Amino acid sequence: MTSPADSYRSLTERVQEISLLVSCAGLLDWDRETYMPAGGAEHRSAQLALLAGMCHERFTDAVTGELIAAVESSEVVADPLSVEATNIRELRRSYDRETRLPKSLVEELSRTTSLAYGHWVEARQASDFKRFEPWLDKVVKLKMQEADCIGHAGQRYDALLDDHEPGATTQWVASVLEPLRAELAGLLERIQGSSRRPRGEILHRRYARDAQEAFATRVAGELGFDFQAGRLDPTAHPFCCDIGPGDTRLTTRYNENDFGDAFFSVIHETGHGLYDQGLPREHWGLPAGEPVSLGIHESQSRLWENFVARSRPFWRHYLPVLAEHFSQSLADADLDAFVFAVNEVQPSLIRVDADEVTYNLHVIVRFEIETALLSGQMAAGDVPAAWNEKYRRLLGITPPDDAHGCLQDVHWSHGGIGYFPTYTLGNLNAAQLFAAAREKLGDLDGLIASGQFGPLLEFLRANIHRRGQQYRAPELIQVVTGKPLSHQALMDHLRTKYEELYGL
Ligand code: ZN
Repeated sequence: MTSPADSYRSLTERVQEISLLVSCAGLLDWDRETYMPAGGAEHRSAQLALLAGMCHERFTDAVTGELIAAVESSEVVADPLSVEATNIRELRRSYDRETRLPKSLVEELSRTTSLAYGHWVEARQASDFKRFEPWLDKVVKLKMQEADCIGHAGQRYDALLDDHEPGATTQWVASVLEPLRAELAGLLERIQGSSRRPRGEILHRRYARDAQEAFATRVAGELGFDFQAGRLDPTAHPFCCDIGPGDTRLTTRYNENDFGDAFFSVIHETGHGLYDQGLPREHWGLPAGEPVSLGIHESQSRLWENFVARSRPFWRHYLPVLAEHFSQSLADADLDAFVFAVNEVQPSLIRVDADEVTYNLHVIVRFEIETALLSGQMAAGDVPAAWNEKYRRLLGITPPDDAHGCLQDVHWSHGGIGYFPTYTLGNLNAAQLFAAAREKLGDLDGLIASGQFGPLLEFLRANIHRRGQQYRAPELIQVVTGKPLSHQALMDHLRTKYEELYGL
C-alpha cells in the first residue's frame, strides 16, 4: 500500500515537472517580448499553445486529484503552516479551479480572447469602441460562465477575483476601496488648490539612453537585485519574468526625453525581481516556493518604486550620482526641485502614466465597471458613457475619445477581468508593509539616505519572500503588520508627503 508520504512525493515530483514545462513557456514568452523577430509570431503562438495545453492536461489529470486526496487529512499535513500543508492546500485550490472548467469553455475562451485582442488593437487604433463592443460582450458572457463553473457565494466577480487574489471577495475589496476613493478625492482637491507647482521640465531634458541604462542598473544592483541571477533587457511594455532559480529577467523601455519613464519602471520591475529572487528556491515549482498573489507581488514593486525611489532620502543619496551621469541636464537641479518633479500630481487620462495620488482612482473606475458588467447591471454598450462619466466625477477630466478612455487597457480583451483591483491592493499592501518596516527598523529614512537598503530588503525577505504561499494575502498582511488591510497607511503616507510638497 502507498503511504500518504509516498503519495506526497509522487505529487510534488509531478507538479514540479509541470512547473518546468510552464517555465519553458515563460522563456519563450520573454523572448517574444524582447528579441524575437516579428516574423516568428505565428510559430511562437503554436509553441506556446502546445505547452499550455500539455500543462493543463497533465495538471487536471485524475492522477493529480487522487494524489492530493491521498495526502489531505493525513499526518503529512498535520501542521497547517508547514511546507507540506501549504502545498496541499494551494494545489487543491488550483486543481478544483482548473477541473471545474469544461474543456469546451477553456477552448472557447482561448479562441475568443485571441480574436478579441486583434479587434481591440484595431478598435483602439481607430478609437472606435463600437468595433470592440461585440467582443467585449462575448468575453463578459464567457467570464460569467467561467465564474458559474468555478462557483461563488452569490457574486460572480468573486470567482474571477479569486484567480488573481486568492481569498479576496468583491465585498471586501469594495469595503477597502470606498473610503480610499473618498479620501483621495479630498486630497486631490487640496493639491489642485495649491499655488505650488513642480518644474516638471527637469525630467524632460535630454537623458542619453546608455547613461540611463548604466544608472538604473547600478541602482537596481545596490537595492539588492542579483545580476548573476538576472538581467535587464529592452522591450516595448516593461515586465519582470521569473524563469526559475538563478534566472529572473527585468525589462524596460527608454525615452531619451523622459528620465522617469525608464528609471521608475526599472525600479518597479526590480521590486518584482527582488521578490522572485527571495522566494525559497528549494521549493521551486510548488506553492511553498511561489509568490502569494498579484496584490502581494505588486506591493513589492510599488514599495521600491514609490516608497523608496520617489522619496527625498533616496534622492539625497542618489542625486549627486545621477548628476555625474547627466551633468548638463541636471546642472541647475537641486534636491527640492528634483524630488518635487518626480512627485508631480496631475489628473490624466491614461492609467499607466498616472501619479501616486490619482493612480488608484483609475483603478476604482475599472473595478466599478467590471463588477457592474459581471452582475449584469451594465451592458458592454454602456461602457464608454459610464467610463467618461466616472472620469469626469473622480478625476475632473473627460476623455476626448475612446482610445484615451475605455479602450486604453489590454486586460479585457485578454479576459483579464478581476485583475485591476490587484494594482490598488498592491499600493495598500506596500503602504502597510513600509509602515511596519519603519516601526521595526527605526530610522528607515536615515538608512535610505545613506544608501543602506539591506535592512529593508531583509525585512521583506524574512516577512514576505521566504514564506512562499504559507499564508494567503489578507492573513499575511495581518501577521506581518498586526492589522487587517485598510486604506489608512496609504492615506497617511500620501498626506504626509504631498502636504509637505504642495505646502498644504
Ligand atoms: Zn507591477
